[in-house]
Amino acid sequence: MPDPTPAGEAAGLLADSVAVDDFVTWSEWALARVGFRPSNCLALVDVCRDELMADFDEQVSHVWGRPFAIGSLAGLVFLGRTGLQAALSHVPGEDGRHRFVAFCFPHIGIDEDGTVGRVQRRGMSRASVACGALAAFRSELTGPRAEAVLDVDDVEQSLLRMRLGPLVPDGYVPSLTELTELARASAVADVHRFVDLARGHEPVDVAYISGTVVHLPDGVDHVAAVQAEVVIDGVLIPLPH
Ligand SMILES: [Zn+2]
Repeated sequence: MPDPTPAGEAAGLLADSVAVDDFVTWSEWALARVGFRPSNCLALVDVCRDELMADFDEQVSHVWGRPFAIGSLAGLVFLGRTGLQAALSHVPGEDGRHRFVAFCFPHIGIDEDGTVGRVQRRGMSRASVACGALAAFRSELTGPRAEAVLDVDDVEQSLLRMRLGPLVPDGYVPSLTELTELARASAVADVHRFVDLARGHEPVDVAYISGTVVHLPDGVDHVAAVQAEVVIDGVLIPLPH
């Protein structure tokens, strides 16, 4: 049972975390063993739009090449079948098979007091919120539920509400950590679905790598709760991290 105190929540998040460069090195090593190399893959990177994710994005790009960006606010994935079809047309296929490496990483901050959901940003005297989109959604959950509809002036946040709202039981307000995990699991499920809708008769193998990027004080990022699996010729193989 997770420790619900603030200190316990922070410790739980960081329990199995690693530095971003160590994670990226691991991804190259682990995927090489199943035939996925930077030269024969297209990286799909799903991260929140927040500039705090630029460093993670750059480190992944450094090894896996310039990625096809698939992330929206909170690291949810709304590009759909058409977006995945576009990506599919850019995938190398040297041996007749196409390979994607999908990185799905929502994010969360921990400030110097150990408060989960807060982050010290460069040039700002006070800590701010990360992930802001998930925190905004969470604060809505503390009030009466309105019907979630598409708001053309707030497309991504309204889609977030429509995607995650039905997964939260009525009357329950999840912690930001729980919402981050919900965003991760939803993103991975949606990429799975969009790939299946986009693939047609093309042979497409996909590595799904997901977890949480944790922003720590002094601009340090860690990667926590990594989950990884590959689907090769329809067969799912878990990759231990
Ligand atoms: Zn965010």
